[in-house]
Parts: sequence; C-alpha cells; structure tokens
Amino acid sequence: MAGTQRCVSRSPLFDFTEEEVMMRNLVQDFCKQSLPWELVSKMDKESKLDPKLLDSLFEVGLMGIEIPEEFGGSGANFTSSIIAIEELAKVDPSISVIVDVQNTLVNNLVRNYGNKEQQEKYLTLLATKGLGSFCLSEASSGSDAFSLKTKAELQSDGSYVLNGTKCWITSSQEASFYIVMANTDFSKGYKGITAFLVDKTNPGVKIGKKEDKLGIRASSTCEVILEDCKVGPESILGGVGKGYKIAIEMLNEGRIGIAAQMIGLAQGVFDYTMPYLKSRKQFGTPIADFQMMEYHYSKLATEIEAGRLMVYNAARMKEAGQVFTKEAAMAKFYTSEVAGNVATKCIEMLGGVGFCRDFSAEKYYRDCIIGKIYEGTSNINLVTIAKHVKKQYD
Ligand SMILES: Cc1cc2nc3c(=O)[nH]c(=O)nc-3n(C[C@H](O)[C@H](O)[C@H](O)COP(=O)(O)OP(=O)(O)OC[C@H]3O[C@@H](n4cnc5c(N)ncnc54)[C@H](O)[C@@H]3O)c2cc1C
Repeated sequence: MAGTQRCVSRSPLFDFTEEEVMMRNLVQDFCKQSLPWELVSKMDKESKLDPKLLDSLFEVGLMGIEIPEEFGGSGANFTSSIIAIEELAKVDPSISVIVDVQNTLVNNLVRNYGNKEQQEKYLTLLATKGLGSFCLSEASSGSDAFSLKTKAELQSDGSYVLNGTKCWITSSQEASFYIVMANTDFSKGYKGITAFLVDKTNPGVKIGKKEDKLGIRASSTCEVILEDCKVGPESILGGVGKGYKIAIEMLNEGRIGIAAQMIGLAQGVFDYTMPYLKSRKQFGTPIADFQMMEYHYSKLATEIEAGRLMVYNAARMKEAGQVFTKEAAMAKFYTSEVAGNVATKCIEMLGGVGFCRDFSAEKYYRDCIIGKIYEGTSNINLVTIAKHVKKQYD
C-alpha cells in the first residue's frame, strides 16, 4: 500500500531457533544426570568444584559454546551461551558462573582478538579441557578497574616482565592460563593497559589466597600473583595498549551472562518453592491458595518474566550487531535485584524449611548476592545507565 508503513512481522522474544532449543534441552538433561542436589550441596559445603563434573562440562560441549567447530567447539551463537548459563543457574549458580566466565569472557576475548596462532593454541584448549581466567581486578582497583597497578616492562629482547597481584579471580585455581591486564606505560594512563596470555606453567605465576565466600562456593576465587613473570611478545592479545578497549567490550557482553545467571537463579528458587506452597497445608488449606501468598508469588513471577525478557533482548541486540551497553547494564542491574527479591521472598514463603541448609532455598539466597557485585557493581551499572539516559535528553 503506497504511502503507508509496511508492517513487518517480528517474533516474540521467547521464540528460539532449533539450535537454541537443543541447547536448552541438552543443559536440562545434563543437570538431571550430572548435577543432583547432593553434589551441588557437597561442592558448596566443601567449597570445591568436583573435577569429574568439570570434565563432563567439557565433554558435552558447554565450555566452548561459541568456539568454532574447527577448534573443537560447539560453533553455536551467543544466545545459546546465555541459555546454557541460565539453565545451569537454575540448579547451581556456581557452575553457571564457571561456564559464564569461560564462554562470555575468556573464549570470546581469544576468539575476537586472538591472532591465528593464539586461536589455535588457546581456543582448542578452552573448548576441550582447559579453563581460562580473566584477571583485571586488584586490591586497590575494583570498580575503578583501569587504575590497576600491575606493570609490564618491555625488555631489550622484545619480551615483557609482569609484576603485580590480581584479586578475586574466578576459576583461577583450576585454570590452565590467565588473561592478565597490565600497564605497559603508566604515563599513558588507561591507554597503556595491555592484555597478556599467561600460561599456568609460567614459573612467574603463583595462585595465592583462595577466598572463603558467602555464596557460589564451588567456583574458586583466588589471587593470581605475578612475580617477574616473563612472557614473549606472542603473548600480547589484541595489541599493545588495547587492553582497556577489549576489556570494556567483553565486560558489556559478560553483563548479559551475569544477568542470565541471576534470572536462572530466580527461576530455580521459584521452581523449588511453588510445589511446596501447593502441597503444604495450614488451616486445612494449601498455603498457595491464601490470597496474601498469591499476591507475593504472582509479583515474583512477573518480575522473573520481565527480567528474562531484558536478558534475551540484550542478547538478541548483541547478535544483531546493535549497541547494547545500556541494555546489558539494565539487564544485569535489574535481574540481580529480582534474584535478591525472589530468593528472600521464597524463603519467607517456605517458612522454616526455607531457612535450613538441608534445602536449596538457603543456598540460592547466599548465591544471589554476588550478582550485585561482580562485572560492575549495581552502582556502577546505574552510572552507565544514567550516562545513556542523560544522552537521550541532550
Ligand atoms: C566472587 C567474585 C568473583 C570475581 N571474579 C572476578 C574475575 O574473574 N576477574 C576480575 O577481574 N575480577 C573479579 N571479581 C572482582 C569484582 O569485579 C569486583 O569485586 C567488583 O568490580 C567491585 O570491586 P570492589 O570489590 O573493589 O568494590 P569497590 O569498587 O571498592 O566498591 C565498594 C562499593 O563502593 C561503590 N562504588 C565504587 N565506586 C563507585 C562510584 N563511582 N559510584 C557509586 N558507587 C561506587 C560500589 O558500588 C560498592 O558498593 C570478582 C569478585 C568476586 C567477589
């Protein structure tokens, strides 16, 4: 019709490709077979990842979701990674973050910025048997991450010597290599920051203190200490002085991953709670039928739905090549609020059983707090959102 706008049909955000549906089914089956509550609880109590579980995650292809098949990966898309992170978080948010950091940060850094040799060496390792860690934070630089003090000094033979201590590094205990952000020239400020690929076998790397954490305890969080750690020029990822740019880009994607972890967690504790509310009777009535209970759980179900739509929307925007910085920050901020709300309210609705360690609600409650801290605290995400909102009104 001339002169009128053509109506284009678009799919709802809950429409997934066949490949994405297969990923969801695969992870759900994996959780049923390999991630029973007994194992989840044991790893939480012992604060230790079961090495056999890690092997199985590699075997089923969950550690190299977007890595091309030529390197042994699954060759899937970003939304598939998001679905895997979400599904795992429904059962164990610790395992979810291990898969999240590997796929959305480490694998994608090497895939997007690695040269041919680096891709061949590290992508093959990451897809089949080796964890990687992303080392940005330091004791004095958390939210202000790019004021980092780790230095990389250029030597006359073209190599670099790294010195510094990285803090709170996910998967560092088990990792085979580290992506270390260090400054090659402090006079240039953040423009001196460079990413280096450092193998665990390097004699200049030591794993320091392991943190004893409130939640996500099966995921190791340790210091990574670099002492006169010599690396060749072939270890530079993405070019000298490009560390800031590549870290910022990856953290934007990473935030969608954490948002998926948080929405999976919220769904997991909700799925645990609802059947109990329907079966538990007080005053001769299932407690789910009390109007005040309906009021609470319908609000929670709505929050979960809203958060999930934000996660999928941000993921689809990234896949479409659109700018998604604001949407990723909003999704991470909002879903961590939702996870906190849902976990707290579910414990209240469960009553005494919600408060005890024999049941999983208590663990979800401890695990959800981290969503407001890593990959940009809630305040830092709000700063990003505010910048974008102000710009819209320039
Ligand atoms: C379990 C865990 C795993 C982690 N994994 C990794 C990892 O793999 N790699 C890695 O590099 N790092 C990792 N981190 C570090 C994480 O990213 C930092 O903890 C986070 O960025 C916050 O830094 P901080 O802890 O130093 O807090 P701080 O930056 O000291 O913040 C403390 C408080 O001050 C607020 N604040 C700071 N600046 C501002 C501001 N400008 N405006 C308003 N409020 C502000 C914050 O919001 C927060 O509430 C991990 C941390 C934890 C706990």
